[in-house]
Amino acid sequence: MNWRSALHLSLAAALAGTVVAVAQTPAPLPAAIAEPQDRPYPGVIRLAVDASDVTRHIFRVQETIPVESGALTLLYPKWGPGSHGPIGRIDSLAGLVIRADGQRVEWSRDTVDVYAFHLTVPVGARNLDVEFQFLSATDDNQGRIVTTPDLLNLQWLSLVLYPAGHFARQIAVEPSVRLPDGWEFATALEVASTAGATTTFKQVSLEVLVDSPMFAGRHAKRVDLDPSGPVPVRLNVFADRADLLETKPEHLDAHRRLVTQAYRLFNSRHYDHYDFLLALSDRMSGIGLEHHRSSENGTVPTFFTQWDNNPDTRELLPHEFAHSWNGKFRRPADLWTPNFNVPMRDSLLWVYEGQTQYWGYVLAARSGLVTAEQARDQLAYTAAIFQHRAGREWKSLQDTTNDPIIASRRPIPWRSWQRSEDYYQEGELMWLDADTLIREASNGQKSLDDFARAFFGVDDGQWITPKTYTLDDVVAALNAVHPHDWAAFLRARLDRHDGPPLDGLARGGYALTYTDTPTDYFKKAETRRKIADFTFSLGFVVGRENKLADVLWNGRAQQAGLTIGTQLIAVNGEAYDKDRLVAMIKAAATDTAPLEFIVKIGNRYSTVRIDYHDGLRYPRLIRHTDIPARLDAILAPRQ
Ligand SMILES: [Zn+2]
Repeated sequence: MNWRSALHLSLAAALAGTVVAVAQTPAPLPAAIAEPQDRPYPGVIRLAVDASDVTRHIFRVQETIPVESGALTLLYPKWGPGSHGPIGRIDSLAGLVIRADGQRVEWSRDTVDVYAFHLTVPVGARNLDVEFQFLSATDDNQGRIVTTPDLLNLQWLSLVLYPAGHFARQIAVEPSVRLPDGWEFATALEVASTAGATTTFKQVSLEVLVDSPMFAGRHAKRVDLDPSGPVPVRLNVFADRADLLETKPEHLDAHRRLVTQAYRLFNSRHYDHYDFLLALSDRMSGIGLEHHRSSENGTVPTFFTQWDNNPDTRELLPHEFAHSWNGKFRRPADLWTPNFNVPMRDSLLWVYEGQTQYWGYVLAARSGLVTAEQARDQLAYTAAIFQHRAGREWKSLQDTTNDPIIASRRPIPWRSWQRSEDYYQEGELMWLDADTLIREASNGQKSLDDFARAFFGVDDGQWITPKTYTLDDVVAALNAVHPHDWAAFLRARLDRHDGPPLDGLARGGYALTYTDTPTDYFKKAETRRKIADFTFSLGFVVGRENKLADVLWNGRAQQAGLTIGTQLIAVNGEAYDKDRLVAMIKAAATDTAPLEFIVKIGNRYSTVRIDYHDGLRYPRLIRHTDIPARLDAILAPRQ
């Protein structure tokens, strides 16, 4: 049954139980759109994108679609692979004009599914000429900024209309792109020919096309990360300025070790070449998006040039790389869809994203992108966040897998109460729990590495068709590594409302504690993010203009009446300043007087007292010497 007939039935059922005074019939819904079939679409779609208008952020699209006469529905992609939600920006499509043999063909938009355009192909027409623009955001309050005068991020998902009724892998496309003069580009697509600033790529399926985005720019650098490996793995760097491309050999070596360590972990590869697309920019919006043969990574401009300041940004590439195995090649059965307009279901994102978060964390340490100490400090921070996540009381970890569909990453006010996609980081804690359990029970003979090798390391070299799995498959693969009641283990952690899964820390030989000095990792993350983080003491984070960027649900600040957006004006009679507040919290630990804040909410000033005397609290791990240091073993490079 498709969802429209289900809707009809539920309406009928609802009406059947209702006493209706006046006969009333709901207007019928539009006819169902053809469901995708696994059969080839005849002919090859030519898709030409002019991406040269970067200052106005406009992409101009011309498509030639082979057709037969009669009814046709064209779809604009709605569901984004890797985004796990309905993120297609149909609101940014404009200027849609369709012609056949020079004559205009009128279209009408489906009134229920506004991503679908219905039309009738005139008798005798062999092709449709389709043109439209994708008007990408000109300001970050409209969405991601994807073009700047110096670089761009082209995503085919936003730049194509395709015929309904076929699997995406059955629709052939020949794409071409025109870039600003003199720009370089990188993509997993393979070049067929170039003419001036226009590059035409070899024909691919629509599925591969959408999985093969492009970064391009004025300032670019390409590094071979695996010169002696089985297939090429390249790091393609684009930046706001040429000087930001400067790299030190030891930083590139760490990225080379990332490839080696990933191969030792997964014992396979699921691509015939791999391209990291990396943008170092504070003008193009950040991104982390996985693909089979590439990944989109957007991070701080000083990623290489101020390496020591940015340890918290270095897990991005390991995470996206691990996705080539976990997420792209192995994919939850309910998440895989035959085209980009069939709804995705996210029930297993705690494997897809949660375990990738774990492997990204582990691989960053094993490759030396972060030190073991930085990795431990980061884990302390993650564990502390979840120790303070009040939202678990009402929303299970399992329910957070629906968040990409519920919120599509719109900003939310009460993060600790609403929760948001917690399957990433709480998933990481859960998989550490599983890893240390296996290591403890097998006396160090087995580990989650064995699961990775067995689950992801199959069909080496295969990448065209994702190999899907269910929860039962995950449980069976864990059982094959180490027999245990894994179904109960996982369900307990996914469904429970009590404390976060911190057993992995204890079994790893560490305990979470709070001290009055932040770790170096914590301090650097605070500086980089331009925040003052008092989450674990007063229960707030101070951001731009001294406004509270986050307030912990049920924390001391919230209990005192402070809220998101409250501006801190003064503390104990002195103008607010981070270092001053730090000193006052320290002093209040041996004092009985409350901290007195003058705050501004809107145009109202008020005085708020917080009777807090527990001092500064910053998370860190301390070694539990009577338990083997299993965490250290997990983070050590594989030989
Ligand atoms: Zn991810």
